[in-house]
Amino acid sequence: MTSSLEQRAAEADAIDPLAHMRRRFLIPDGLTYLDGNSLGALAAHVPAAVQDVVRRQWGEHLIGSWQTSSWWSAPTRVGDRLAPLLGAAPGQVVVADSTSVNVFKLLVAALRAAAPRTELLVDATTFPSDGYVAQSVGRMTGASVVPVHPDDLAGALSRGTAVVLANHVDYRTGRLYDMASHTAAAHAVGALVVWDVSHSAGVLALKLDRIGVDFAVGATYKFLGGGPGAPAFSYVASRWQPRLDQPLTGWGGAADPFAMSGQFEAAAGIDRMRVGTPDILSLLALDAALDVWDDVDMAQVRAKGLALTGFFMDCVRELLPPELAEVVTTRGDDRGHQVSVRVAAAATLVGRLAERGVVVDWRPPDLLRAGFAPLYTSYGDALRGAQVIADLLSE
Ligand SMILES: *Cc1c(COP(=O)(O)O)cnc(C)c1O
Repeated sequence: MTSSLEQRAAEADAIDPLAHMRRRFLIPDGLTYLDGNSLGALAAHVPAAVQDVVRRQWGEHLIGSWQTSSWWSAPTRVGDRLAPLLGAAPGQVVVADSTSVNVFKLLVAALRAAAPRTELLVDATTFPSDGYVAQSVGRMTGASVVPVHPDDLAGALSRGTAVVLANHVDYRTGRLYDMASHTAAAHAVGALVVWDVSHSAGVLALKLDRIGVDFAVGATYKFLGGGPGAPAFSYVASRWQPRLDQPLTGWGGAADPFAMSGQFEAAAGIDRMRVGTPDILSLLALDAALDVWDDVDMAQVRAKGLALTGFFMDCVRELLPPELAEVVTTRGDDRGHQVSVRVAAAATLVGRLAERGVVVDWRPPDLLRAGFAPLYTSYGDALRGAQVIADLLSE
């Protein structure tokens, strides 16, 4: 069985139109890295770019770099670089703060925009941080926070619904939800939607503008490969920007920060999502990391992601004993680029896999997650990962 899987992997790698991209990343020899959904791999040119920011821009030009290296405007400049990957026209994306902080800013702003409605529907399967933030936003604003499974959204929406907080991809199961139909259903009752696209940015050709999304947030250190703790992005559709009243009114979001006025006046456009001084080192590492996306066709990325995850599921089904390992990710196309496998003692298994050079992660209580980043994950990696899991389970 393994030999026919080996043949399939070799054939798929040989004709993979993205195979050449792997050379642009520094992945240690012998390592099978299946965790690009948690921390994207390092692009080979990024260390030199970061070195330049530190040595020359900071070390030599010092404070002048806020102007000469355009540090101050970097959050929107890098936002505009990300925009094509999100299906957003320029001027609607800013890179600043963490995903969690941006969820807070956008939820409060959306609730203010939707007043006098006060119901906040929150994906019951959400990544916990988003849910924690939503609960606090509820206490702070008086909104009633109602958990709803994404499949039940249509029935839960009403004319009292102010805002929906939705995850595009379920971080546990890898299930991908239909952004267009969920957004349309919310809009049909006059509700607004905040989408968290942390697990679909860098995976699908997102179409935020075309779908008419109101607000979106996402992490940049996962599939986008921006580096550990790289600042997150916020998308605010242009139609909302003049009215957006986001709650963290720091000077970064002011119309003229350097006027040092005693009275806050919000910047006209997407800049009003900003709060304080940008984290330049992380932001410019992300800026450099985005170079690899310049020449990438997202349709090829998506096609390879579906093929890789499908192939890995085939490997799991053929090589792993079904009584010990159950694939919970859907076989349909409604999945992101991760495969989750239910196994006993997932935590221990993940540690033992790492000792054998296979990096995956796990989520409690029993889900092993393997992520497939089409720019640097090969079909051979998928097979090797499944083989080593099978070896350890049979020991
Ligand atoms: C990764 C992830 C986050 C992470 O939030 P941080 O503030 O960057 O720690 C939030 N939401 C979702 C859906 C995620 O997948």
